[in-house]
Amino acid sequence: MATVTPRAALQWDYAPAPESRDAASLRESYDLFINGAFVAPTDGARVQTINPATEEPLASVAFAGPGDVAAAVAAAREAAPKWAALAPLERGKYLFRIARLIQERSRELAIVESLDGGKPIRESRDVDIPLAAAHFFSYAGWADKLGYAVGGRAFAPRGVVGQVVPWNFPLLMAAWKLAPALACGNTAVLKPAETTPLTALLLAEIVQEADLPPGVVNVVTGDGGAGAALVRSDVDKVAFTGSTAVGKEIQRALAGTGRGLTLELGGKSANIVFEDAALDQAVEGIIEGIFFNQGHVCCAGSRLLLQESVAEEVVRRLWARMERLRVGDPLDKNTDVGAINSRQQLEKITELVASGEEEGAEIYQPPCRLPEKGYWFAPTVFTNVAQSYRIAQEEIFGPVLSVLTFRTPDEAVEKANNTPYGLSAGVWTEKGSRILAMAQKLRAGVIWANTYNRFDPTSPFGGYKESGFGREGGRHGLEPYLDFE
Ligand code: NDP
Repeated sequence: MATVTPRAALQWDYAPAPESRDAASLRESYDLFINGAFVAPTDGARVQTINPATEEPLASVAFAGPGDVAAAVAAAREAAPKWAALAPLERGKYLFRIARLIQERSRELAIVESLDGGKPIRESRDVDIPLAAAHFFSYAGWADKLGYAVGGRAFAPRGVVGQVVPWNFPLLMAAWKLAPALACGNTAVLKPAETTPLTALLLAEIVQEADLPPGVVNVVTGDGGAGAALVRSDVDKVAFTGSTAVGKEIQRALAGTGRGLTLELGGKSANIVFEDAALDQAVEGIIEGIFFNQGHVCCAGSRLLLQESVAEEVVRRLWARMERLRVGDPLDKNTDVGAINSRQQLEKITELVASGEEEGAEIYQPPCRLPEKGYWFAPTVFTNVAQSYRIAQEEIFGPVLSVLTFRTPDEAVEKANNTPYGLSAGVWTEKGSRILAMAQKLRAGVIWANTYNRFDPTSPFGGYKESGFGREGGRHGLEPYLDFE
């Protein structure tokens, strides 16, 4: 008698699709970029920057001391008058050149961004690097149209600007800061984050290749001490993106000095789903809102507000979707969630998640095997969350979502606004009138409707309350870099 072999269960695993690391060659060590040249730090200090996915060292990077920061500021000061006096159209051409060079080196930049920061290559390749180029393109166009941007008021560049950026979008944040500053005729000193200095240094190479006059852009790598030295130096304006705690410290340091300041700080943004929303689409937006870049996003939709009538259904679909998330090698093109940026950040996430469990929230994590080496955290959702819990109040800056419920639009607004922050929000509903009504009542700088975490260089971005002040992006992003009579 013929035997029937039972059919094996079908396996739908993805084959690995690794981006080639060899497409980006890193140097063994990197210097500071001051006055158009790469120079060693005066005291010779260097630190290794590591790959958070493997804990392997990538390159040794110069650590700027106060003297190096002062030299960079002096170079920017010396370059300022000539750069300000340059015909605006010519300034625009330099920015355009930088944008083109970012595009030309985009593959290399994406690989280095993923190696140094841990983010999936799909995000560096499709979001960070193209958007960085787009910011330079966009502000290249503004350089000779500033009068239109400011409604015909008389204006002048601020002079020298000090810019401190964080580790979550290293090249993109550098572009957000440098492009409008240069378009307005300022010179700049940029301080990248200690854990992600590499793409800022590649951008310095690009600046050199674009033949910018020496001193117009300077990059000082180092730790928080270099940032603190820069914001207290002889600069005319400071632009900072990072934690609220450091932002407050900078605001205190600058109080009464007459120097300009913009702060883009933390958030605890509400992603609000009404019962009439397209639920599968909303689930995609929830995933994008909290797991994009491992949740290392200041505007992450880290508080999910679900209308009670659909709460169970949305959570069920969310869990099912989370099981499909691929966590792992940032250089694999199939990866959805990469590595946590640093051991310190992993400890912070772990501590806050433990507090959520202790306070009584219910945790869900999909089964996923995390790599043994490196810094990893599984995508996490908490239900049964009270507004008073730390996981509903504090910025976790990791792949951790807290779910709350509401019955009426007013309750949704009240809960969404019940936070010291005010950076962004998401609204999911099929009714345009409800979107507009919610947008008017939500105290948040950016509100997405039926989407989340979409960025565009022509759109202003910034917060209220403890999320900071000032806007970056678009026409609004020019004003902080100009002085008005
Ligand atoms: P920080 O605010 O410390 O870092 C942001 C940038 O500021 C980095 O370049 C940092 O340098 C620099 N810096 C640190 N201290 C000072 C200082 N006293 N004066 C001037 N510059 C300084 O953020 P962390 O990296 O410590 O992250 C801590 C938390 O902050 C995260 O868990 C997250 O909640 C939040 N955060 C929010 C961000 C946002 O976009 N809103 C971005 C990053 C963090 P260095 O890296 O060398 O220390």
